[in-house]
Amino acid sequence: MGEKTFPLPKEELEKLVRRYPTPFYLYDERGIRENARALTRAFGILPGFLEYFAVKALPNPFILKILSSEGFGADCSSYAELLLADMAGIRGERIMFSSNETPAREYKAARDLGAVINLDDFTHIDYLERHAGIPELISCRYNPGSAKSGNAIIGKPLEAKYGFTRDQILRAYPLLAAKGARRFGIHAMVASNELFLEYHIETARMLFELAVEIKEKTGLALEFINLGGGVGIPYKVEDQAIDYQELAEGIEGLYRSIIVPAGLGSLRIRIEWGRAITGPYGWLVSTAIHTKSIYREYIGLDSCMADLMRPALYSTAYHHITVAGKETAPSTETYDVVGSLCENNDKFAIQRSLPKIDPGDLVIIHDAGAHGRAMGFNYNGKLRCGELLLRSDGTIMQIRRPETVEDYFATLDREAFKNFQENL
Ligand SMILES: *Cc1c(COP(=O)(O)O)cnc(C)c1O
Repeated sequence: MGEKTFPLPKEELEKLVRRYPTPFYLYDERGIRENARALTRAFGILPGFLEYFAVKALPNPFILKILSSEGFGADCSSYAELLLADMAGIRGERIMFSSNETPAREYKAARDLGAVINLDDFTHIDYLERHAGIPELISCRYNPGSAKSGNAIIGKPLEAKYGFTRDQILRAYPLLAAKGARRFGIHAMVASNELFLEYHIETARMLFELAVEIKEKTGLALEFINLGGGVGIPYKVEDQAIDYQELAEGIEGLYRSIIVPAGLGSLRIRIEWGRAITGPYGWLVSTAIHTKSIYREYIGLDSCMADLMRPALYSTAYHHITVAGKETAPSTETYDVVGSLCENNDKFAIQRSLPKIDPGDLVIIHDAGAHGRAMGFNYNGKLRCGELLLRSDGTIMQIRRPETVEDYFATLDREAFKNFQENL
Protein backbone atom coordinates (compact mmCIF):
# COMPACT_ATOMS: atom_id res chain seq x y z
CA MET A 1 0.00 0.00 0.00
CA GLY A 2 1.34 3.43 -0.88
CA GLU A 3 0.35 6.95 -1.81
CA LYS A 4 0.33 7.74 -5.50
CA THR A 5 3.15 10.04 -6.51
CA PHE A 6 4.06 12.13 -9.53
CA PRO A 7 7.72 12.91 -10.22
CA LEU A 8 7.38 16.68 -10.80
CA PRO A 9 6.25 19.38 -8.37
CA LYS A 10 3.49 21.70 -9.57
CA GLU A 11 5.81 24.58 -10.56
CA GLU A 12 7.95 22.30 -12.76
CA LEU A 13 4.89 20.72 -14.31
CA GLU A 14 3.50 24.15 -15.14
CA LYS A 15 6.78 25.04 -16.82
CA LEU A 16 6.68 21.80 -18.78
CA VAL A 17 3.10 22.44 -19.90
CA ARG A 18 4.19 25.76 -21.39
CA ARG A 19 6.67 23.84 -23.56
CA TYR A 20 4.46 20.84 -24.26
CA PRO A 21 0.75 21.67 -23.97
CA THR A 22 -1.51 19.08 -22.38
CA PRO A 23 -2.58 16.40 -22.81
CA PHE A 24 0.56 14.25 -22.78
CA TYR A 25 1.95 11.09 -21.28
CA LEU A 26 4.98 11.38 -19.03
CA TYR A 27 7.18 8.34 -18.36
CA ASP A 28 9.82 8.10 -15.65
CA GLU A 29 13.05 6.49 -16.86
CA ARG A 30 14.48 6.15 -13.37
CA GLY A 31 11.36 4.40 -12.10
CA ILE A 32 11.32 2.02 -15.06
CA ARG A 33 15.02 1.19 -14.66
CA GLU A 34 14.81 0.64 -10.90
CA ASN A 35 11.81 -1.62 -11.42
CA ALA A 36 13.59 -3.56 -14.17
CA ARG A 37 16.60 -4.04 -11.90
CA ALA A 38 14.45 -5.21 -9.00
CA LEU A 39 12.84 -7.77 -11.29
CA THR A 40 16.19 -8.98 -12.61
CA ARG A 41 17.61 -9.21 -9.09
CA ALA A 42 14.67 -11.28 -7.84
CA PHE A 43 14.20 -13.52 -10.87
CA GLY A 44 17.93 -13.95 -11.45
CA ILE A 45 17.69 -17.03 -9.19
CA LEU A 46 15.79 -18.81 -11.96
CA PRO A 47 17.90 -20.63 -14.57
CA GLY A 48 18.32 -18.71 -17.85
CA PHE A 49 15.86 -16.06 -16.78
CA LEU A 50 14.73 -13.61 -19.46
CA GLU A 51 11.91 -11.08 -19.50
CA TYR A 52 10.48 -10.33 -22.92
CA PHE A 53 8.78 -6.96 -22.42
CA ALA A 54 5.29 -7.07 -23.97
CA VAL A 55 5.68 -4.37 -26.60
CA LYS A 56 1.94 -3.80 -26.86
CA ALA A 57 1.95 -2.30 -23.35
CA LEU A 58 4.16 0.64 -24.32
CA PRO A 59 5.16 0.47 -27.98
CA ASN A 60 7.77 3.19 -28.08
CA PRO A 61 11.34 2.46 -29.22
CA PHE A 62 12.84 4.84 -26.64
CA ILE A 63 11.28 2.75 -23.88
CA LEU A 64 12.24 -0.52 -25.59
CA LYS A 65 15.83 0.73 -25.83
CA ILE A 66 15.89 1.50 -22.09
CA LEU A 67 14.51 -1.96 -21.30
CA SER A 68 16.91 -3.60 -23.74
CA SER A 69 19.81 -1.90 -21.96
CA GLU A 70 18.47 -3.49 -18.75
CA GLY A 71 18.76 -6.88 -20.43
CA PHE A 72 15.15 -7.37 -21.47
CA GLY A 73 13.96 -8.83 -24.75
CA ALA A 74 10.68 -8.07 -26.51
CA ASP A 75 7.39 -9.92 -26.80
CA CYS A 76 5.77 -8.99 -30.12
CA SER A 77 2.50 -9.96 -31.72
CA SER A 78 2.40 -8.04 -34.99
CA TYR A 79 4.58 -6.90 -37.86
CA ALA A 80 4.77 -3.33 -36.53
CA GLU A 81 5.79 -4.57 -33.09
CA LEU A 82 8.54 -6.66 -34.67
CA LEU A 83 9.78 -3.52 -36.43
CA LEU A 84 9.75 -1.62 -33.14
CA ALA A 85 11.84 -4.32 -31.46
CA ASP A 86 14.23 -4.32 -34.39
CA MET A 87 14.46 -0.51 -34.23
CA ALA A 88 15.47 -0.81 -30.58
CA GLY A 89 18.16 -3.33 -31.50
CA ILE A 90 16.28 -6.31 -30.04
CA ARG A 91 16.70 -9.19 -32.46
CA GLY A 92 16.97 -12.95 -32.81
CA GLU A 93 15.97 -15.05 -29.83
CA ARG A 94 15.59 -11.92 -27.71
CA ILE A 95 12.25 -11.56 -29.47
CA MET A 96 9.33 -13.80 -28.58
CA PHE A 97 6.64 -13.68 -31.25
CA SER A 98 3.45 -14.52 -29.32
CA SER A 99 0.72 -13.78 -31.82
CA ASN A 100 -2.61 -15.33 -32.69
CA GLU A 101 -4.56 -15.63 -35.94
CA THR A 102 -1.19 -14.74 -37.45
CA PRO A 103 -0.96 -13.75 -41.12
CA ALA A 104 1.67 -15.50 -43.24
CA ARG A 105 3.70 -12.35 -43.83
CA GLU A 106 4.06 -11.79 -40.09
CA TYR A 107 5.38 -15.32 -39.62
CA LYS A 108 7.86 -14.60 -42.41
CA ALA A 109 8.94 -11.34 -40.78
CA ALA A 110 9.40 -13.10 -37.43
CA ARG A 111 11.47 -15.82 -39.12
CA ASP A 112 13.59 -13.19 -40.90
CA LEU A 113 14.39 -11.61 -37.53
CA GLY A 114 15.15 -14.99 -36.00
CA ALA A 115 12.46 -14.43 -33.35
CA VAL A 116 11.22 -17.29 -31.20
CA ILE A 117 7.88 -18.17 -32.76
CA ASN A 118 5.15 -19.11 -30.30
CA LEU A 119 2.39 -20.97 -32.15
CA ASP A 120 -1.17 -20.29 -31.02
CA ASP A 121 -2.86 -23.26 -32.67
CA PHE A 122 -2.23 -26.79 -33.89
CA THR A 123 -3.17 -25.90 -37.47
CA HIS A 124 -0.46 -23.26 -37.47
CA ILE A 125 2.19 -25.98 -37.58
CA ASP A 126 1.29 -26.69 -41.20
CA TYR A 127 0.57 -23.03 -41.90
CA LEU A 128 3.98 -21.95 -40.65
CA GLU A 129 5.69 -24.76 -42.55
CA ARG A 130 4.00 -23.74 -45.80
CA HIS A 131 4.60 -20.01 -45.47
CA ALA A 132 7.83 -19.55 -43.58
CA GLY A 133 9.28 -22.96 -42.76
CA ILE A 134 9.65 -24.65 -39.38
CA PRO A 135 12.50 -23.11 -37.40
CA GLU A 136 14.93 -25.03 -35.22
CA LEU A 137 13.49 -23.42 -32.07
CA ILE A 138 9.72 -23.32 -31.67
CA SER A 139 7.22 -22.71 -28.88
CA CYS A 140 3.56 -23.60 -28.39
CA ARG A 141 0.98 -21.75 -26.34
CA TYR A 142 -1.00 -23.86 -23.91
CA ASN A 143 -4.64 -23.28 -22.98
CA PRO A 144 -5.44 -25.32 -19.87
CA GLY A 145 -9.20 -25.24 -20.49
CA SER A 146 -11.15 -26.77 -17.64
CA ALA A 147 -7.93 -27.97 -15.98
CA LYS A 148 -7.73 -24.58 -14.30
CA SER A 149 -11.39 -23.98 -13.58
CA GLY A 150 -10.73 -24.28 -9.85
CA ASN A 151 -9.21 -20.83 -9.84
CA ALA A 152 -11.92 -18.19 -9.95
CA ILE A 153 -9.69 -15.35 -11.14
CA ILE A 154 -8.24 -17.17 -14.12
CA GLY A 155 -10.55 -15.52 -16.66
CA LYS A 156 -12.01 -18.85 -17.85
CA PRO A 157 -9.46 -20.46 -20.18
CA LEU A 158 -12.29 -22.61 -21.59
CA GLU A 159 -13.70 -19.47 -23.18
CA ALA A 160 -10.38 -18.01 -24.27
CA LYS A 161 -9.50 -18.08 -27.97
CA TYR A 162 -5.82 -18.72 -27.32
CA GLY A 163 -3.58 -21.71 -27.34
CA PHE A 164 -3.52 -25.50 -27.81
CA THR A 165 -5.53 -27.98 -25.77
CA ARG A 166 -3.59 -30.43 -23.62
CA ASP A 167 -4.15 -33.21 -26.15
CA GLN A 168 -3.02 -30.99 -29.02
CA ILE A 169 0.09 -29.85 -27.24
CA LEU A 170 1.17 -33.44 -26.56
CA ARG A 171 0.80 -34.20 -30.28
CA ALA A 172 2.40 -30.92 -31.40
CA TYR A 173 5.98 -31.46 -30.25
CA PRO A 174 6.54 -34.85 -31.94
CA LEU A 175 5.02 -33.41 -35.13
CA LEU A 176 7.26 -30.35 -34.96
CA ALA A 177 10.26 -32.61 -34.33
CA ALA A 178 9.32 -34.68 -37.38
CA LYS A 179 9.27 -31.46 -39.37
CA GLY A 180 12.78 -30.52 -38.28
CA ALA A 181 12.41 -28.55 -35.05
CA ARG A 182 15.08 -29.41 -32.50
CA ARG A 183 14.53 -27.01 -29.60
CA PHE A 184 11.20 -26.50 -27.89
CA GLY A 185 9.48 -24.09 -25.58
CA ILE A 186 6.06 -23.84 -23.99
CA HIS A 187 4.06 -20.76 -23.14
CA ALA A 188 0.89 -19.87 -21.30
CA MET A 189 -0.78 -16.55 -20.61
CA VAL A 190 -3.89 -17.18 -18.63
CA ALA A 191 -4.60 -14.05 -16.62
CA SER A 192 -4.55 -10.31 -16.80
CA ASN A 193 -3.80 -7.74 -14.12
CA GLU A 194 -3.63 -10.45 -11.47
CA LEU A 195 -2.36 -9.28 -8.08
CA PHE A 196 -2.76 -12.62 -6.30
CA LEU A 197 0.76 -14.03 -5.97
CA GLU A 198 -0.30 -17.64 -5.45
CA TYR A 199 -2.12 -17.58 -8.75
CA HIS A 200 1.11 -16.92 -10.68
CA ILE A 201 2.91 -19.63 -8.75
CA GLU A 202 0.15 -22.08 -9.66
CA THR A 203 0.58 -21.18 -13.35
CA ALA A 204 4.25 -22.13 -13.02
CA ARG A 205 3.30 -25.41 -11.33
CA MET A 206 0.85 -26.21 -14.12
CA LEU A 207 3.49 -25.62 -16.81
CA PHE A 208 6.24 -27.41 -14.90
CA GLU A 209 4.06 -30.51 -14.52
CA LEU A 210 3.15 -30.32 -18.20
CA ALA A 211 6.82 -30.09 -19.17
CA VAL A 212 7.44 -33.30 -17.22
CA GLU A 213 4.48 -34.99 -18.89
CA ILE A 214 5.71 -33.91 -22.33
CA LYS A 215 9.12 -35.42 -21.54
CA GLU A 216 7.55 -38.68 -20.32
CA LYS A 217 5.09 -39.03 -23.20
CA THR A 218 7.15 -37.75 -26.14
CA GLY A 219 10.73 -38.08 -24.98
CA LEU A 220 11.29 -34.42 -25.85
CA ALA A 221 12.88 -32.14 -23.27
CA LEU A 222 11.68 -28.56 -23.39
CA GLU A 223 14.33 -25.84 -23.45
CA PHE A 224 12.22 -23.08 -21.91
CA ILE A 225 8.96 -22.29 -20.21
CA ASN A 226 7.44 -18.87 -20.77
CA LEU A 227 5.08 -18.01 -17.94
CA GLY A 228 3.52 -15.14 -19.89
CA GLY A 229 2.42 -11.79 -18.51
CA GLY A 230 -0.62 -10.78 -16.55
CA VAL A 231 1.01 -9.65 -13.33
CA GLY A 232 -1.10 -6.88 -11.91
CA ILE A 233 -0.18 -3.49 -10.49
CA PRO A 234 -1.74 -1.67 -7.55
CA TYR A 235 -4.00 0.73 -9.42
CA LYS A 236 -5.81 1.47 -6.17
CA VAL A 237 -4.01 3.01 -3.23
CA GLU A 238 -5.08 0.11 -1.02
CA ASP A 239 -3.87 -2.58 -3.50
CA GLN A 240 -0.76 -4.58 -2.66
CA ALA A 241 1.93 -4.92 -5.35
CA ILE A 242 3.30 -8.37 -6.17
CA ASP A 243 6.52 -9.04 -4.25
CA TYR A 244 9.02 -10.05 -6.95
CA GLN A 245 11.29 -11.91 -4.59
CA GLU A 246 8.47 -13.92 -3.04
CA LEU A 247 7.16 -14.81 -6.50
CA ALA A 248 10.60 -15.77 -7.83
CA GLU A 249 11.34 -17.87 -4.75
CA GLY A 250 7.97 -19.62 -5.07
CA ILE A 251 8.68 -20.49 -8.70
CA GLU A 252 12.24 -21.54 -7.90
CA GLY A 253 10.99 -23.92 -5.21
CA LEU A 254 8.72 -25.62 -7.74
CA TYR A 255 11.56 -25.74 -10.24
CA ARG A 256 13.65 -27.65 -7.72
CA SER A 257 10.84 -29.99 -6.73
CA ILE A 258 9.32 -30.69 -10.16
CA ILE A 259 11.77 -29.81 -12.94
CA VAL A 260 15.12 -30.92 -11.54
CA PRO A 261 14.05 -34.44 -10.42
CA ALA A 262 12.56 -35.03 -13.88
CA GLY A 263 15.98 -34.49 -15.45
CA LEU A 264 14.89 -31.22 -17.06
CA GLY A 265 17.43 -29.15 -15.17
CA SER A 266 18.59 -27.22 -18.24
CA LEU A 267 15.11 -25.76 -18.67
CA ARG A 268 15.08 -21.95 -18.74
CA ILE A 269 12.46 -19.62 -17.32
CA ARG A 270 11.00 -16.81 -19.37
CA ILE A 271 8.28 -14.27 -18.70
CA GLU A 272 6.64 -11.62 -20.85
CA TRP A 273 5.31 -8.97 -18.52
CA GLY A 274 4.07 -5.66 -19.84
CA ARG A 275 1.90 -3.85 -17.34
CA ALA A 276 4.05 -4.52 -14.28
CA ILE A 277 7.17 -3.19 -16.01
CA THR A 278 6.04 0.28 -17.10
CA GLY A 279 2.47 0.72 -15.81
CA PRO A 280 3.24 2.55 -12.54
CA TYR A 281 5.83 4.81 -14.21
CA GLY A 282 3.56 6.60 -16.68
CA TRP A 283 1.01 9.38 -16.15
CA LEU A 284 -1.52 11.02 -18.43
CA VAL A 285 -1.41 14.74 -17.72
CA SER A 286 -4.43 16.78 -18.78
CA THR A 287 -5.94 20.18 -18.09
CA ALA A 288 -9.41 20.61 -16.65
CA ILE A 289 -11.05 22.83 -19.27
CA HIS A 290 -14.66 22.77 -18.09
CA THR A 291 -16.75 22.23 -15.00
CA LYS A 292 -20.35 21.24 -15.54
CA SER A 293 -23.12 21.09 -13.02
CA ILE A 294 -26.27 19.16 -14.02
CA TYR A 295 -27.66 16.09 -12.24
CA ARG A 296 -24.04 15.31 -11.39
CA GLU A 297 -20.90 17.40 -11.19
CA TYR A 298 -18.53 16.94 -14.14
CA ILE A 299 -14.94 17.87 -14.80
CA GLY A 300 -14.17 18.03 -18.52
CA LEU A 301 -10.58 17.34 -19.50
CA ASP A 302 -8.67 18.18 -22.68
CA SER A 303 -7.92 14.45 -23.07
CA CYS A 304 -10.46 11.69 -23.67
CA MET A 305 -10.76 7.92 -23.93
CA ALA A 306 -8.97 8.12 -27.28
CA ASP A 307 -5.90 8.86 -25.14
CA LEU A 308 -6.62 6.34 -22.38
CA MET A 309 -9.25 3.73 -23.05
CA ARG A 310 -8.93 1.41 -20.05
CA PRO A 311 -11.58 3.01 -17.80
CA ALA A 312 -14.14 2.86 -20.61
CA LEU A 313 -13.09 -0.58 -21.86
CA TYR A 314 -13.06 -2.48 -18.59
CA SER A 315 -15.81 -1.87 -16.08
CA THR A 316 -13.44 -2.80 -13.25
CA ALA A 317 -10.58 -0.56 -14.35
CA TYR A 318 -9.57 2.12 -11.89
CA HIS A 319 -7.02 4.89 -12.39
CA HIS A 320 -6.12 7.08 -9.48
CA ILE A 321 -6.46 10.81 -10.12
CA THR A 322 -4.69 13.69 -8.42
CA VAL A 323 -4.63 17.42 -9.08
CA ALA A 324 -1.26 19.20 -9.25
CA GLY A 325 -0.82 21.36 -6.15
CA LYS A 326 -3.93 19.89 -4.49
CA GLU A 327 -2.38 16.57 -3.45
CA THR A 328 -3.15 17.12 0.21
CA ALA A 329 -6.36 19.12 -0.19
CA PRO A 330 -9.43 17.43 1.31
CA SER A 331 -11.68 15.49 -1.09
CA THR A 332 -14.78 17.60 -0.62
CA GLU A 333 -16.34 17.00 -4.06
CA THR A 334 -17.79 14.08 -6.01
CA TYR A 335 -17.09 14.27 -9.73
CA ASP A 336 -17.37 12.34 -12.95
CA VAL A 337 -14.09 13.17 -14.71
CA VAL A 338 -14.80 12.99 -18.41
CA GLY A 339 -13.41 13.47 -21.91
CA SER A 340 -14.94 14.99 -25.00
CA LEU A 341 -16.00 11.95 -27.03
CA CYS A 342 -19.63 11.61 -28.04
CA GLU A 343 -19.73 8.47 -25.95
CA ASN A 344 -21.13 8.49 -22.45
CA ASN A 345 -18.59 5.92 -21.30
CA ASP A 346 -15.80 8.42 -21.99
CA LYS A 347 -15.22 8.81 -18.26
CA PHE A 348 -11.87 8.53 -16.51
CA ALA A 349 -13.59 8.39 -13.13
CA ILE A 350 -17.19 8.04 -12.04
CA GLN A 351 -18.50 9.53 -8.79
CA ARG A 352 -14.93 10.00 -7.55
CA SER A 353 -14.13 11.91 -4.37
CA LEU A 354 -11.68 14.64 -5.27
CA PRO A 355 -10.63 18.08 -4.10
CA LYS A 356 -12.45 21.00 -5.72
CA ILE A 357 -11.20 21.27 -9.31
CA ASP A 358 -11.16 24.55 -11.21
CA PRO A 359 -10.70 25.15 -14.95
CA GLY A 360 -6.97 25.35 -15.61
CA ASP A 361 -6.04 22.79 -12.98
CA LEU A 362 -3.60 20.10 -14.12
CA VAL A 363 -5.20 16.70 -13.61
CA ILE A 364 -2.89 13.70 -13.33
CA ILE A 365 -4.11 10.20 -14.15
CA HIS A 366 -1.84 7.62 -12.53
CA ASP A 367 -0.59 4.18 -13.58
CA ALA A 368 -1.03 4.94 -17.26
CA GLY A 369 2.40 3.67 -18.34
CA ALA A 370 1.08 0.42 -19.85
CA HIS A 371 -1.87 -0.22 -22.16
CA GLY A 372 -2.42 3.56 -22.09
CA ARG A 373 -1.33 5.61 -25.10
CA ALA A 374 -0.92 2.26 -26.86
CA MET A 375 -4.68 1.63 -26.95
CA GLY A 376 -5.40 5.07 -28.37
CA PHE A 377 -7.60 5.57 -31.40
CA ASN A 378 -9.01 8.28 -33.64
CA TYR A 379 -12.75 7.90 -33.19
CA ASN A 380 -14.62 11.20 -33.39
CA GLY A 381 -11.61 12.73 -35.13
CA LYS A 382 -9.68 12.77 -31.87
CA LEU A 383 -5.93 13.11 -32.20
CA ARG A 384 -3.80 11.02 -29.88
CA CYS A 385 -1.52 12.88 -27.51
CA GLY A 386 2.27 12.77 -27.41
CA GLU A 387 4.71 11.10 -25.01
CA LEU A 388 7.43 12.66 -22.87
CA LEU A 389 10.28 10.95 -21.08
CA LEU A 390 11.67 12.19 -17.78
CA ARG A 391 15.28 11.07 -18.08
CA SER A 392 17.21 9.73 -15.12
CA ASP A 393 19.24 12.98 -15.14
CA GLY A 394 16.08 15.08 -14.65
CA THR A 395 15.83 16.40 -18.20
CA ILE A 396 12.69 15.88 -20.24
CA MET A 397 12.49 14.89 -23.87
CA GLN A 398 9.63 14.28 -26.23
CA ILE A 399 9.65 10.66 -27.43
CA ARG A 400 6.51 10.89 -29.53
CA ARG A 401 4.89 14.08 -30.77
CA PRO A 402 1.15 14.58 -30.55
CA GLU A 403 -0.81 13.65 -33.65
CA THR A 404 -1.79 16.48 -35.96
CA VAL A 405 -4.76 16.81 -38.23
CA GLU A 406 -2.35 16.08 -41.11
CA ASP A 407 -1.74 12.63 -39.57
CA TYR A 408 -5.49 12.13 -39.46
CA PHE A 409 -5.81 12.87 -43.17
CA ALA A 410 -2.63 11.03 -44.18
CA THR A 411 -4.44 7.83 -45.12
CA LEU A 412 -6.83 9.63 -47.46
CA ASP A 413 -5.80 10.11 -51.09
CA ARG A 414 -6.64 13.77 -51.74
CA GLU A 415 -5.86 13.43 -55.45
CA ALA A 416 -8.22 10.48 -55.88
CA PHE A 417 -10.88 12.38 -53.96
CA LYS A 418 -10.46 15.42 -56.23
CA ASN A 419 -10.95 13.29 -59.34
CA PHE A 420 -13.83 11.45 -57.73
CA GLN A 421 -15.57 14.70 -56.90
CA GLU A 422 -15.04 16.22 -60.33
CA ASN A 423 -16.34 13.17 -62.18
CA LEU A 424 -19.24 12.29 -59.95
C1 LIG B 1 -0.79 -8.77 -23.30
C2 LIG B 1 0.14 -9.87 -23.30
C3 LIG B 1 1.26 -9.87 -22.46
C4 LIG B 1 1.51 -8.79 -21.44
O1 LIG B 1 0.48 -8.73 -20.51
P1 LIG B 1 0.59 -7.77 -19.23
O2 LIG B 1 -0.74 -7.96 -18.59
O3 LIG B 1 0.82 -6.41 -19.74
O4 LIG B 1 1.71 -8.27 -18.40
C5 LIG B 1 2.15 -10.91 -22.56
N1 LIG B 1 1.96 -11.92 -23.45
C6 LIG B 1 0.90 -11.95 -24.28
C7 LIG B 1 0.77 -13.07 -25.23
C8 LIG B 1 -0.04 -10.94 -24.23
O5 LIG B 1 -1.10 -10.99 -25.04
